[in-house]
Amino acid sequence: MRRYLVKILWGNIMLTSKKYVLTLITSILIILSISSIVYASEALINVNNLNVRNGPGTDFDTIMQVHEEETYEIIREQNGWIEIQLEQGTGWITKEFISIQGTETVEQGEDKNIISNQSVTIIHDKTTLREGPSTDYEIIGNVNQGTTLEVFDHVGGWYEVQWNEERAYIPDWSVGTDGSLTNGAPSVKDKTIVIDAGHGGRDVGAIGASGNFEKEYTIITAQKLKYYLEILGANVILTRSHDNYLSLSGRASLANAMNADVFLSIHYNSTPQFPSAKGASTYYYSERDSILATTIQEELLKATTMDDRGIHQESFQVTRESHRPSVLLELGFISNISEEQNIQSSVFQEKISKGIINGLNEFFSY
Ligand SMILES: [Zn+2]
Repeated sequence: MRRYLVKILWGNIMLTSKKYVLTLITSILIILSISSIVYASEALINVNNLNVRNGPGTDFDTIMQVHEEETYEIIREQNGWIEIQLEQGTGWITKEFISIQGTETVEQGEDKNIISNQSVTIIHDKTTLREGPSTDYEIIGNVNQGTTLEVFDHVGGWYEVQWNEERAYIPDWSVGTDGSLTNGAPSVKDKTIVIDAGHGGRDVGAIGASGNFEKEYTIITAQKLKYYLEILGANVILTRSHDNYLSLSGRASLANAMNADVFLSIHYNSTPQFPSAKGASTYYYSERDSILATTIQEELLKATTMDDRGIHQESFQVTRESHRPSVLLELGFISNISEEQNIQSSVFQEKISKGIINGLNEFFSY
């Protein structure tokens, strides 16, 4: 299919023979080759209430939701979004919260274009290279700060690069381009971070304006944060990775048992009686944790531009019983229609991760 198209386009170029047309068409060809990875496989959904949209991005309308442990045939992938076969028609889901099952047939082979001689520079020491564009793939090596690598492709937040005669994948924000999560050395590296997705199971937490439960949003945030922290070399433990009930003492004692460097309890707020309430707040129990609360709250506000509801000393069981540096984060109001919509978007969830990680880096640099 693609070769045929190439011939037609080259025909046009010969006819017009104008240089700017050639440049334009070359760009189109490159875009076509990047976006046409085809999978003969299935998407296994890892979370509940994952929005299915009518196009590849959060700007498109939600047409339905899919749930944990369901599988759907994958039609294609584009910019980190997967088009899946539904009972009627197709829809798009973000690749973040699915696993791909079965063998993937990547249609593009030897004829893949190099993206206009683009190269990237590594900004963190020991950045890991993987076999494929996800943390599910094996680590095949690592490279140090300052290394420059030639780029072949950019798909789903990962660069495909040339490394020692091999193709390898690195997350796009671990290199010297816009959107890097940190400004200096990643000080979360080798730290043990216990992330507690608030509520779960029969404890649904707060109820959003949409009727969704807080427990569903907290797990999405926890998983996203884990994903980014692990790329930066942190050792991350989730108190729960499924929709199951856990006692508050159990959550705190996991942080104690793991001797966590930091324990983060993730929550979303709700005040149905004041539907316009919005913004983020951070709670700590021990005076020792006020610095952690301050750095996270500050960086969170910078990254998300959410309203500042401040840091507060409060006796919540989960932070009181944790003997490790701990904070409880209220990451916005799901009772506020527009804030809940923000919280549902993966772009906003990425900003939350970025803010928390920057706050952690700052905390660890003290
Ligand atoms: Zn909560």
